[in-house]
Amino acid sequence: MKAVVYNGPREVMVKEVPDAKIERPTDVLVKITSTNICGSDLHMYEGRTSFEKGRVFGHENLGQVVEVGNAVDKIKVGDWVAIPFNVSCGHCANCERQLTAFCLTMNPGMAGAAFGFADMGPYPGGQAEYLRVPYGDFNCLRLPEDAQEKQADYVMLSDIFPTGWHATELACVQPGESVVIYGAGPVGLMAALSATVKGARQVMVVDRHPDRLKLVESLGAIPIDDSKGSPVEQVMALTNGIGADRGCECVGYQSHDPQGHEHPNMTLNDLVKSVKFTGRIGVVGVFVPKDPNSPDPLGKKGEITFDYGLFWNKGQSMGTGQCNVKTYNRQLRDMIHAGRVKPSFIVSHKITLDKAPDAYKHFDARDSGWTKVILQPVAVA
Ligand code: NAD
Ligand code: ZN
Repeated sequence: MKAVVYNGPREVMVKEVPDAKIERPTDVLVKITSTNICGSDLHMYEGRTSFEKGRVFGHENLGQVVEVGNAVDKIKVGDWVAIPFNVSCGHCANCERQLTAFCLTMNPGMAGAAFGFADMGPYPGGQAEYLRVPYGDFNCLRLPEDAQEKQADYVMLSDIFPTGWHATELACVQPGESVVIYGAGPVGLMAALSATVKGARQVMVVDRHPDRLKLVESLGAIPIDDSKGSPVEQVMALTNGIGADRGCECVGYQSHDPQGHEHPNMTLNDLVKSVKFTGRIGVVGVFVPKDPNSPDPLGKKGEITFDYGLFWNKGQSMGTGQCNVKTYNRQLRDMIHAGRVKPSFIVSHKITLDKAPDAYKHFDARDSGWTKVILQPVAVA
């Protein structure tokens, strides 16, 4: 089958790899009709992780089931399914508590496994014609009758919509509150959508790309352009000098200033400053325990200079980590089905798999108009 394969920093190739197949009786085999390129793929694409050459990318997957193992009960051939990026077993101590991003069995020695991801187990990704889904009954979310027609919405259930929602959960966003979000990439935009659905009265999103800030505006949220002045001062001006009730970090360790210089601590320290005393911060942007290719000496060790004194003095708190997709994907699916939300508003490109190398280049450069790419490995009939 054809798949998008990592070939070293800033190089992916579409090439023939061994077919995905049922390996264990609990597996489900899915024909992939929609699979997204994610900001998380870019950390790997840029050579900023230990992702091995030859591995297949793709953790935001949707498709139709073509085969099931003997021990699969619920999922049937022909079902349309959205597949969480987390690969989880469903029966360990963490999965039983819904902490599927920290599954204890699928990536021995660590907590948490994912498709096509550095340091998260050997699982090939779904930027390919077929994907093997371990523990298919547990991991596949069945989609309703409008699955095919609304797949650009439903594919967001595999990662970024639940992840944006998770950012607002970690920050404990309540109705009537004000929220500041750093990053207007797909994840930040989904956090803004989530905060809006939850009834936040004021949602502010910081970035510097005009096309992304326009999408912020389309949600009725307030775009904050940090290339035009300090984002902290802009947030303070919009909140009577108090700061936002809640803050969401949707950028990660490759955060940079508008001139392009990387500062891994930039968004975290800006959040401490722009969130109110006793406010709470949710961090879903990825930070890594080691980053040998960081331009920052501390960053190489996965460390940052964090304004801990101010954080403590303000009595703030913080929640962090990968999203437990299964905690939210069912309810978010039902919101899409009911027409309550349309997360596909961020999609800029739907293209065939062979165009992936070019799409990676544009999305990595955050070229104007490249906000979210859906690859379509198998044409939908
Ligand atoms: P993206 O790279 O497309 O978007 C990031 C945005 O942040 C860009 O628009 C960029 O201009 C902006 N930015 C950079 N520095 C900034 C700064 N200092 N202040 C404000 N904005 C800044 O990526 P994405 O797909 O939106 O993902 C965002 C992050 O979320 C990545 O780190 C990704 O790995 C992570 N992620 C985490 C999870 C999870 O489960 N926790 C899941 C998916 C993605
Ligand atoms: Zn992703």
